Amino acid sequence: MSGILTYALHFDGAFNKNSLGAVSEGAKLAGEIGGEAAAVVLGGEDLSDELCASLGKYGASKVYRVRGPEGLAQPVVDAMAKVITDEGYSYALFGGGLLGFEIGAGLTARLNAGVTMEVTAVKAQDGKLVAERPILQDTAIVDVEYVGEPGIIIGRLNAFDAVESGEGAAEVVDVDVEFQEHSTKAVMVTRGEQRGADVNIEDAELLVAGGRGLGKPEGFELCEELAGALGGAVAATRAVVDAGWYPYAAQIGQTGKTVAPKLYLAAGISGAIQHKVGMQSSDNIVAINKDPNAPIFEYSDLGVVGDLNKILPKLTEAVKARKNGAG
Ligand SMILES: Cc1cc2nc3c(=O)[nH]c(=O)nc-3n(C[C@H](O)[C@H](O)[C@H](O)COP(=O)(O)OP(=O)(O)OC[C@H]3O[C@@H](n4cnc5c(N)ncnc54)[C@H](O)[C@@H]3O)c2cc1C
Repeated sequence: MSGILTYALHFDGAFNKNSLGAVSEGAKLAGEIGGEAAAVVLGGEDLSDELCASLGKYGASKVYRVRGPEGLAQPVVDAMAKVITDEGYSYALFGGGLLGFEIGAGLTARLNAGVTMEVTAVKAQDGKLVAERPILQDTAIVDVEYVGEPGIIIGRLNAFDAVESGEGAAEVVDVDVEFQEHSTKAVMVTRGEQRGADVNIEDAELLVAGGRGLGKPEGFELCEELAGALGGAVAATRAVVDAGWYPYAAQIGQTGKTVAPKLYLAAGISGAIQHKVGMQSSDNIVAINKDPNAPIFEYSDLGVVGDLNKILPKLTEAVKARKNGAG
């Protein structure tokens, strides 16, 4: 069977957006290569028939429900390896995100499969899937074909859109999985939302965005302080969210969010085209960059050439002073 299997992560009664993107993309591609689109879900009693079947809305025709620990990679590797081996799926597809990377890598090792990571698009060709992957610092894209089965495809975060295709309820199939000893060693202590994930940056009128020029995750404190003083929110580039410096929810750009605030202050951001498309409609763009030739200056209303470590704290101080009537 040339089917496509995905994994759908859930939390608090809802499926994760990236997972839904993978399920939607898997369903679309399965239609194109003439195979079945299915998903694996793990969890306890919270995994109701209704919740599992709801993946049908995103195009999955079958959902394999496994009773086991949710949110950890190794149990999912066990579950997906069993389903792929027993049912003969040709591909496993994952949305971006650290868990998807970990599961995809584990599955590749377990099944001695071929894998492509950081995939930005997938196409069907002669009944098979071809993954597109940027290389050489994103200056070129290569087509990756798979020799043998299964092929593992791990997308970049938000590479695949969650699309409700409205095809109704998926069939729910319970699967017993014998977890490997090492798979149950890690225990989930707590789950929750990432820092900043609750801020709706799409609605914020003032955004202070940070990039790799912040130097380290703690560099975001400079952005948070200025955003706090201005009454705005913090945004980020893909480079820093991929590095784990800030939550994905804050990413602006082609594979992130599109914003149009009154003020977009970019600190330590080079201004790559993929970032620009997400913020170019801002009313005022102010950029701070130590490189006078940084591309972001080409489309900024105001450019400040200098070290953000010196400029951001001074700006925060000035805004606070002004608010307190001293400026
Ligand atoms: C398909 C695809 C989709 C993508 N989607 C997105 C997306 O949605 N969003 C996105 O942002 N990117 C996206 N990218 C990545 C994009 O191409 C860039 O790699 C990324 O935006 C660069 O992030 P950055 O500006 O933080 O880092 P860099 O390009 O490394 O820039 C860091 C900047 O900081 C400056 N700097 C360093 N130190 C200091 C200092 N002390 N003071 C002041 N300035 C300093 C440097 O001069 C430099 O200009 C995508 C790429 C591809 C191929």
